[in-house]
Amino acid sequence: MTKRRALITGITGQDGGYLAEFLLSKGYEVYGMYRRCSVDDHLKKIEHLKERIHLVQGDLLDSYSLDKVVKETQPDEVYNLGAQSQVAVSFHQPIVTREINWYGVERLFKSLEENLMKFKFYQASTSELFGKALETPQTEETPFNPVSPYASAKFEAYNFIQRKRKEGFFACNGILFNHESPRRGIEFVTRKITDGAARIKLGLPQRVTGKDYLELGNLDSKRDWGFAGDYVEAMWLILQKEKPSDYVISTGENHSIREFVGEAFNLLDLPLTWEGEGINEKGKFNGKTLVKVNPEFYRPAEVSYLLGNSQKAKKELGWEPKVKFNELIRKMVESDLEKLKSKKF
Ligand code: NAP
Repeated sequence: MTKRRALITGITGQDGGYLAEFLLSKGYEVYGMYRRCSVDDHLKKIEHLKERIHLVQGDLLDSYSLDKVVKETQPDEVYNLGAQSQVAVSFHQPIVTREINWYGVERLFKSLEENLMKFKFYQASTSELFGKALETPQTEETPFNPVSPYASAKFEAYNFIQRKRKEGFFACNGILFNHESPRRGIEFVTRKITDGAARIKLGLPQRVTGKDYLELGNLDSKRDWGFAGDYVEAMWLILQKEKPSDYVISTGENHSIREFVGEAFNLLDLPLTWEGEGINEKGKFNGKTLVKVNPEFYRPAEVSYLLGNSQKAKKELGWEPKVKFNELIRKMVESDLEKLKSKKF
């Protein structure tokens, strides 16, 4: 029997690697699309997969390259994970964000439509679509209210996928809430926290600032955080249904950034006490300040509270998250400690 072929865009990202491993375990032939300009650090993330997947070069900004990738790979299933995925960056680079996160989806889909008879398409949609959420918890029926250029571009892509489904294509949106792992990019807040806490434990300066304390933005923001390894299974399940649909994927539990920080430092035997309020709030251990708020990290428009309800995924896909909040942070803290120790700073 011929193997099913999957094409993953964004193979060098956090989710790309986990999804490739999952699809390999299901017997797929996996093609991973990477950008020519991808930095070494990102390419290293898939080093362990190089012998088992096919790497193809392409860019969501370039339809010529996408045509070539589609013709070469002839996928049965396409997982479009490639994106300018940082909400904060999108405020500084709204145009490139829109080009990749919205028009990039249209470019890729057009190429698939023109070159293949049949394919299934997964679009990486996001809980950021709910923005300043109009109801809690958020389900597939909750109206969207995006507040960042990142979310606006993903919103247009979401609508595009729904239109394509109406035209008869097997196209689905996975509305995934935040998911993290030891492979999360260092520029995202959860990795900044676990890396920063591990550095303090080892007596090392912070990565960017060189300071001996961690600086963060809004500590009150609440997110529904899951483990990326669990979430890629949901992506696959979404494409295995008989009929295409959109699904919210979340844990149904949310925590503030302050709680995330507290748990990371607890795991390192540095329990924090919090003093002060707002931009003057500090996290201290034995009287020493280890965490400070820096308003520079506040976003022009904050999404302060997200909480998902994945009952539809549970009922129709049989999907449930396995890794809990504390276990997720433990995985990340232990991995960062190990990475820092092995670099022998
Ligand atoms: P990530 O680690 O930031 O990875 C993003 C990937 O997109 C990288 O491989 C990146 O390649 C690639 N990419 C960027 N620009 C591209 C372009 N022009 N053409 C082709 N590829 C490009 O993101 P992730 O956490 O794995 O997330 C995967 C997807 O899910 C993204 O679409 C994200 O927006 C969405 N999402 C993520 C979360 C979450 O919590 N992680 C939640 C909801 C939705 P380089 O290595 O070359 O930069």
